[in-house]
Amino acid sequence: GKRVFSGIQPTGIPHLGNYLGAIRHWVDIQEGNECIYCLVDMHALTVWQDPVQLRKQVIEQTAILVAAGIDPQKQILFNQSAVSAHARLAWIFNCVARIGWMNRMTQFKDKAGKNREAHSAGLYVYPNLMAADILAYKATCVPVGEDQRQHLELANDIVQKFNHDYETDFFPQVQGYIPTTSARVMNLRDGSKKMSKSDPSEQGRIELMDEDDVIVNKIKRAKSDSEPLPSERKGLEGRLEAFNLISIYSVMENKTIDQALQEFAGQGFSTVKTALSDVLIQHIAPIREQTKKLLADQAYIHTILKQGAEKASAIAEPIVSEAEAIVGFIK
Ligand code: ATP
Ligand code: MG
Repeated sequence: GKRVFSGIQPTGIPHLGNYLGAIRHWVDIQEGNECIYCLVDMHALTVWQDPVQLRKQVIEQTAILVAAGIDPQKQILFNQSAVSAHARLAWIFNCVARIGWMNRMTQFKDKAGKNREAHSAGLYVYPNLMAADILAYKATCVPVGEDQRQHLELANDIVQKFNHDYETDFFPQVQGYIPTTSARVMNLRDGSKKMSKSDPSEQGRIELMDEDDVIVNKIKRAKSDSEPLPSERKGLEGRLEAFNLISIYSVMENKTIDQALQEFAGQGFSTVKTALSDVLIQHIAPIREQTKKLLADQAYIHTILKQGAEKASAIAEPIVSEAEAIVGFIK
């Protein structure tokens, strides 16, 4: 088996993009592998979080991941700040990565927007902490959505420079595991933006805790166009929102885009939207209801996190201690 690491920010309720791009693969990859899944609260702090909300979101996300099928007994599920090895290795990586590398990161540019100078220094060095998250465990398999591709490349640049500068082969290269379908689910109201937890409008995303009627409404009001559906994928070219809705449908139904289009060819979006809401509810309602049950016993969720942090520390501590020794820190 492989050692797998991945994280999600407790910045809100996970949405369909998180589910299709990451969480459902986290569930599938558990069999035969050692998986470490992390609620990355330190990453969340890179943009302002209300402390009460942050705590609540970590608990809620943990419950959602368990409800979605992550096994906290067999795998490791914990919150990042509870394992200090992440912060310590991130500091070393801040000193390995070059400012020029950080300046190329498109997520920083997207999140910071025009007013870059007003953002936290943490947001700027976010990718170095992400490299530390992975390498504190020497994890080699990292299932993430398409938007994290550049950060994984940066992690490998850090590995290469660290190993070169300290004349070692201590850190292994990291391998991304980016799905071939729905690795980038788009905003329901704007097909040029990815679906995001931190987008101020909830209308652009389906959240895993949305009630059935909310799902129906969001899909009903999702942007589409007035053209009938084509019979083949190439007829969706340039129709961003149409393409997004059809690809979500096809992934959830385990069909190719062309197969899905055969069902709808010649018809308008109202038929597609009805079918899409149905299949979304089928997948999301059980996760939502199971999450509610789990949240009724918060002590259980806290126990999962505590035990997860202990298991995570047991792996990360010797690795990060050795990295500290390599750079010359006296312990
Ligand atoms: P935020 O807006 O706070 O950054 P987010 O929606 O981008 O939240 P993250 O917690 O940053 O979610 O990412 C968790 C995982 O979900 C990552 O693996 C990321 O690549 C994946 N992911 C995020 N958004 C999408 C999306 N729209 N489509 C597919 N995968 C996504
Ligand atoms: Mg994100």
